[in-house]
Amino acid sequence: MTGSNGGLIVNGRQHDLMVRAAMACDERQKRIGPAHPTLSANRLIAALPQPVLALLQFSHAVLAQGHVCFDVGDRIEEVYFPTSGVISLVAAMEESNVVQTMIGREAAVGLQSAVGRPYAFVRAIVKIPGSFYTVSAEAFRRVVQTTLEAQALVAHYTDVLLAEAQQLAACNAIHPASARLARWLLQCAVRGGSELFPLTQDSLAEMLGVRRSTVTLLAQDLQSRGIIRYRRGKIAIIDRHALESCACECYGTVKALYDELAAHGQRQASGCALPGETGLRAPV
Ligand SMILES: [Zn+2]
Repeated sequence: MTGSNGGLIVNGRQHDLMVRAAMACDERQKRIGPAHPTLSANRLIAALPQPVLALLQFSHAVLAQGHVCFDVGDRIEEVYFPTSGVISLVAAMEESNVVQTMIGREAAVGLQSAVGRPYAFVRAIVKIPGSFYTVSAEAFRRVVQTTLEAQALVAHYTDVLLAEAQQLAACNAIHPASARLARWLLQCAVRGGSELFPLTQDSLAEMLGVRRSTVTLLAQDLQSRGIIRYRRGKIAIIDRHALESCACECYGTVKALYDELAAHGQRQASGCALPGETGLRAPV
């Protein structure tokens, strides 16, 4: 339930559940160590039901740009939950790589191992370095299957990732590179949690499927209009509103998918999941 300003309205019981979930997160955090980001910095972790969260053993890692989490055909051994970095899912083609989507703190990489085949059909590679939590894919699969809430949540995440990939396939086919560049930059900022992030021109060329020289011209245009600053491989978004006006409609379409996903997570955390999102199952 949301108020007129979009904020979540909760009753006393729901508030208690939210507090207990936050305390469970804090308890897990103590075991991981105070030097690392909070687990709840990742929206999927924050939305997981408390009994599920209590059964998972998270590890923390700082991963560099270019780190390959898994490659095409690999068995997915770990699920990655970004808290500040961003991972791209890439289809490896003979001519070049094609970026299908990028995943940051709003989701996780390797979720299909919990609901389907445990083998990767894309390459997952760190595009923006940062902080990540990881958990054993096999343990995640087993624990998720213990509750209908967790199954529904993970199924919703995988549906959104598929919908986004389909939207971006259409985007690549018909929208101009300038509009797609604006969309990618906005998505990097949202998913990495910062409007200043490292991204090479080669990475941008791969994301757009264009030559590096084309990226140079497009970035120079945005910079000359005071919308971004691009220096030494780092991009700063100066005028977010103007950048949004440059982006194609796909930015808003994909954002709406993730907003709905976040609302699902809030319902889950507050104990007011919709019918079909609730219920316990015996562990498998
Ligand atoms: Zn588009």
